[in-house]
Amino acid sequence: MTTATLEPVTELPRLTNEEVARYSRHLILPEVGYEGQQKLKAAKVLCVGTGGLGAPLALYLAAAGVGTLGLVDFDTVDASNLQRQVIHSTATVGKLKVDSAEIMLKGLNPNLNVIKFNTMLTSANAMEIFKDFDIIADGTDNFQTRYLVNDACVLSGNKPNAYGSIFRFEGQASVFATEEGPCYRCLYPEPPPPGLVPSCAEGGVLGILPGLVGIIQATEVIKLILGIGDSLIGRLLLVDALGMNFRTLKLRKNPDCPVCGTHPTVTALIDYDQFCGIPKPTTTGPLEVAKDQNVTGSIVDGIRQITVQELKRRQDAQENFFLLDVREPHEYPIANLGAPLIPVGSLESRISEVLVPKDAEIVVHCRSGARSQKAAVILRNHGFTHVENLAGGILEWADKIDPSMPKY
Ligand SMILES: [Zn+2]
Repeated sequence: MTTATLEPVTELPRLTNEEVARYSRHLILPEVGYEGQQKLKAAKVLCVGTGGLGAPLALYLAAAGVGTLGLVDFDTVDASNLQRQVIHSTATVGKLKVDSAEIMLKGLNPNLNVIKFNTMLTSANAMEIFKDFDIIADGTDNFQTRYLVNDACVLSGNKPNAYGSIFRFEGQASVFATEEGPCYRCLYPEPPPPGLVPSCAEGGVLGILPGLVGIIQATEVIKLILGIGDSLIGRLLLVDALGMNFRTLKLRKNPDCPVCGTHPTVTALIDYDQFCGIPKPTTTGPLEVAKDQNVTGSIVDGIRQITVQELKRRQDAQENFFLLDVREPHEYPIANLGAPLIPVGSLESRISEVLVPKDAEIVVHCRSGARSQKAAVILRNHGFTHVENLAGGILEWADKIDPSMPKY
């Protein structure tokens, strides 16, 4: 057997015979070799999120022989995750994601040490969770956590942040928060206004795209551990899956960066929900209302919320009201309540199509109740005086009224 070094490095853990057999394709690769495999075995990598990006990331790191993987996730596996989150399976729908991921990872590589954090990453726990890991891999899908991960990496003394993000058909990857390179805030000092960038749940994502980007993150993690190749430090990789184009942009460390610059203004973790313009959980937003069963009559931003049961009762009683669907046309054939469709984005310009008197009863619905809340506010601002929002949307209808209706 040829290896890069003649003697195993003694301060690193030795490989068992089973591991030598398992990693033989690494061991015969001079750039990895016995010593490289020892480095992988000694490495501790934290995966923030076990979703679309975290799934391939964690699977390939586990397969490659990374000794310890931390998993942070507070969610449970939903059937709609399985189109891309290949670390989970049909059999684990409903289980905690960290437990589901552990089953798959340990099945792939029983040598792996999995440390589970069944929690949301917050300003209160991030530093404590990060402290035992060498590299942080950010597989999150929201801006609050992305800024939190970045700042916590910088404030932990520049723990490399293997970053990836995806949207619809496009992805990005880089390595942030190293001594020599920029951080995420050097590139994006401030988050976009809330609501400007839809989440994957609202905007959709091509299932294989997180696979592509997550594996790029895993590649960067492995290179950092082995100390080989040219990493994405100081470069932003842009992936366009439709055109199948890969481009890299050069990134510079920004001396005025609020967290890693020469005069940082962020010297401790902050309230990232507030920073990203997300309302406090104590204030009642449409999404929380959507989960509440007894919302009929409650008011959000001046809009009365009604339950699916109330809507059903009114339909059965043949009461006179106008039901409006504000989802996108491609959602309509999946499931609908037979209501006319005007997507929320074009409601302002198509307001003349709402051919009911200004004082007519209008009930607006969407998929989960968030877009219809926005639409209800638009209608009210155009002088409609009796506009109500269907809390929970068509998903709640499928849950409570018509179980034969597909959920998406
Ligand atoms: Zn920076």
